[in-house]
Amino acid sequence: MMDPKTTACRACGARIMFLKTAAGKTMPVNEVAVFFRKEETGKGLFVQGDGTTARGTLVDAMEQGDGFGYISHFATCTNPDFFRKPRKKDRKNIKEENEP
Ligand SMILES: [Zn+2]
Repeated sequence: MMDPKTTACRACGARIMFLKTAAGKTMPVNEVAVFFRKEETGKGLFVQGDGTTARGTLVDAMEQGDGFGYISHFATCTNPDFFRKPRKKDRKNIKEENEP
């Protein structure tokens, strides 16, 4: 197992680390591993111990889930707007607010 370095999320300051998935992608995940229930339609994306990813829903306890791994930080980031590019509409609103 590799030894990923933790870092702070640029948007919210949470401790995260970058894991390389089996598909060769680098993904930001929360530092703490979690239990989850595997679901095709789940909101979360999890990196499992072997580097494969699975979609699912975060659960509180092992008994409630059937998977164990690291959740993609994008699913839990408290400031996800940081990663979105401003849309034209938003820029227009800002301009209007600043006008007398
Ligand atoms: Zn964040």
